[in-house]
Amino acid sequence: MSLKPRIKKQLGRRFVASGLHRKVLAGHGVIVSFHRVSDAIPEDALTVNSARFEGLCRLFRDAFDVLPLGDFVSRLERRESVAGALSLTFDDGYLDNFEVAAPIMRALGLPATFFVTTQFIGSTTVPWWDRGLPTHPGWMTWDHVGSLSREGFDIGAHTRRHADLGRVQGTVADDEIGGSRQELIDRLGRAPTNFAFPYGGRSNLLEENRERIRNAGFRSCVSAVGGLTPNGADPLRLPRVAISSWFASPEQFAFDLVSIKRASARVTRRADAVQR
Ligand SMILES: [Zn+2]
Repeated sequence: MSLKPRIKKQLGRRFVASGLHRKVLAGHGVIVSFHRVSDAIPEDALTVNSARFEGLCRLFRDAFDVLPLGDFVSRLERRESVAGALSLTFDDGYLDNFEVAAPIMRALGLPATFFVTTQFIGSTTVPWWDRGLPTHPGWMTWDHVGSLSREGFDIGAHTRRHADLGRVQGTVADDEIGGSRQELIDRLGRAPTNFAFPYGGRSNLLEENRERIRNAGFRSCVSAVGGLTPNGADPLRLPRVAISSWFASPEQFAFDLVSIKRASARVTRRADAVQR
């Protein structure tokens, strides 16, 4: 699809105003993922600025039923509809999640899940993907994470050291999955129920590790594989739509759900074919 962002914005606005986006969604919900919300570094694949984030949040609030991820998962477990539902998630545990994103969501009354890499929290770790940044944006501390949790935001697990669960096995995998869960219990006094696997691609999760996630007591596992969630989806195989500055406007997001849904349908058909 090579339509210009400006045209998509206009079409998207008409979509939302007429409620057409809900017809397009037809039996699908959306889980969106963010990493950083910041005005201190330029926007990139992992960063959106605060104005873009707030614009998207307003669109989410006005055009969707924004649910805590736990409620979204409960609906799937009870075989209830997730049509028109949307859940917000954040990966890794960047400091701006607390300083920039949370205040905007708080003001708009939006719930969210923060998937934290437990060993990054309160550390000065600079992961390899951030080495090109002029300054590292930093991580939340356990005080920040605890305060978000007490306020009612959901804290999910994202392993202890951002392990590639497509590669690690055995006791290392146990430590990354069960260990991150235990660390969150020790730090926050409550057990996390949602898990996001690092890197999130199809090759980044061995099936035996998906079983570990289930056996550790998690009710859901989200990926970074782009797509919408159809009614009846397996909570341990949930796609997400990654949000970056690629969405030039909130309305473009609404419009692009059409192509995202088409792509999810193609992926589902391909997965069916593989299973056969
Ligand atoms: Zn991550």
